[in-house]
Amino acid sequence: MRDLFEISKAVMVGHAVADALGVPVEFKRRSYLDENPVVDMMGYGTHYVPKGCWSDDTSMSLCTLDSLANGVDYADIMKKFCEWYGQSKYTATGAVFDCGITTSNALSQFSINDIPPLECGFGEEFDNGNGSLMRIHPVVLYLNNRPIDLDLKMEIIANVSKLTHSHERSVVGCGIYAFILWALLENPTKAGVEKGLLDAIRYFKSSPEIITYYRIFDMDFYKSARENVKSSGYVVDTLEAALWCLMTTDSYKECVLKAVNLGEDTDTVAAVAGGLAGALYGYDSIPKEWRDTLLKLDYIESLCSKVFG
Ligand SMILES: [Mg+2]
Repeated sequence: MRDLFEISKAVMVGHAVADALGVPVEFKRRSYLDENPVVDMMGYGTHYVPKGCWSDDTSMSLCTLDSLANGVDYADIMKKFCEWYGQSKYTATGAVFDCGITTSNALSQFSINDIPPLECGFGEEFDNGNGSLMRIHPVVLYLNNRPIDLDLKMEIIANVSKLTHSHERSVVGCGIYAFILWALLENPTKAGVEKGLLDAIRYFKSSPEIITYYRIFDMDFYKSARENVKSSGYVVDTLEAALWCLMTTDSYKECVLKAVNLGEDTDTVAAVAGGLAGALYGYDSIPKEWRDTLLKLDYIESLCSKVFG
């Protein structure tokens, strides 16, 4: 087992750097990125924000991480999400420039309608965007060493998803991600990823939603051509694309650039891939010039220290 503070920095910063790489080209088509590939950290573009600026994916992850310093408290996580969305806390530049519709509706349920936190999320089939998957890693890291049984860990992960995304497909997506990250903490190799996938399919074998993720459990998927990999904001597409990038590359840098250059939901596909790539290759594998460009790097690392130091 590696030091959890070090690995938390690799995952949190790996996720945030990849988010920032994707932000300037969010919603760009793959054909555009084939002509104009991202090869380095850039400023402006889609949201007109400076170089190194990360988005809602990282902001909501920081809310969650900060809250976990005092244990698992769903109302406190929601309160912090609302401080982000309403008051621009936990932002890179002091401004909120992106928020998914399911998330914003769930935050209104909490802040305006006074609904209990675990009843705020939306659970229709079209509420399966990647909005909970993109912010689940802090609680996965937090639960790793806890002396509690697996069912309780999975219940906590499900509840953290349900704050905004309560459909079983989103919950299972977060759960699959958790098994992969936990396996990478034990064994930071691609064999570790395969072990995590096996753990996930074993755990979720009776969930009717596991079938929607069938492609990632077939190792032939990682030999499939890029045109067979979608990179939309649908939770299944995002997890598939992130894992395909992770398994078809050999460095943090190669993985996250491949993810960004798939196009569409560039920041979130890259962020999900980047957190896992941070766990696989380690903190030092994240290019130093990218870490140095990332806005509020010290703040992100100070929150890692607060929870895991
Ligand atoms: Mg985003």
